[in-house]
Amino acid sequence: MSDTRKILIIGASRGIGLGLTREFAGRGWHVVASERTPSDGLRDAAQSHENAVEIVTVDVTKPDTYQGLSSKFGEGTLDAIIVNAGITGASHQSAEQATDDEIAHVMQTNAYGPVRVGKALLPLLKDGGTLAFMSSLMGSIADSSGAYEFYRVSKVGLNMLAKGISEQQAKERKIEVLSLHPGWVQTDMGGPNASITVAESCTGLADVVEKAGGGGYHFVDYTGEAIAF
Ligand code: NAP
Repeated sequence: MSDTRKILIIGASRGIGLGLTREFAGRGWHVVASERTPSDGLRDAAQSHENAVEIVTVDVTKPDTYQGLSSKFGEGTLDAIIVNAGITGASHQSAEQATDDEIAHVMQTNAYGPVRVGKALLPLLKDGGTLAFMSSLMGSIADSSGAYEFYRVSKVGLNMLAKGISEQQAKERKIEVLSLHPGWVQTDMGGPNASITVAESCTGLADVVEKAGGGGYHFVDYTGEAIAF
């Protein structure tokens, strides 16, 4: 049996997800990376890391796109899963202006969708593996100064649901559940003025995931520093 570690990264077409794909493949992991529509960046990563990157198609809001992954890869075959997909939500970011559709879209994409993916794919993880969700410091109630009302609530919801998976499903299999804050990162979402590059964030995030494995639930940033709920 191969001892190559295997990770599934959901939402890897660009930005942090693509950076994580490159980082883990560079560290010798086998990476299963998902896109919604064909991503040139992901194909480029697959070409640069021959046989280390496998591409699948997943939309976190559409369960029929990921339900087949369990039979494709088999139970207990993955060391880690990172559900990275996320959106900012409607640009006004205002609770008063929010329409029902806007609320549904951001909550499905950032909270319920990722957590449904995590629960559905949990059997793919080995006992003692790691299930990580890409959260944000903006999902910390303790840290909040308000604003970004849409995005913040979706990430608070994600953290709550992730802790629930830890308590209800992952604990008995010693699977560690993480809510990760990647830093403020130069991506389409973070913008060009963000404080760190994708490579800086992803090096740190990969270190955090590689060191995980003790079980429990942790909300941490890309340097491994704990973040208050
Ligand atoms: P990004 O450049 O906008 O990339 C977002 C990724 O999520 C893309 O791969 C996108 O795929 C995917 N995605 C969006 N909706 C999806 C869906 N329904 N199903 C599957 N994939 C979907 O953003 P990023 O900055 O890399 O952010 C990645 C994660 O980090 C997000 O969860 C974000 O909230 C979090 N985060 C980012 C920052 C930052 O400063 N950048 C800070 C804190 C937290 P498509 O290409 O198909 O749209």
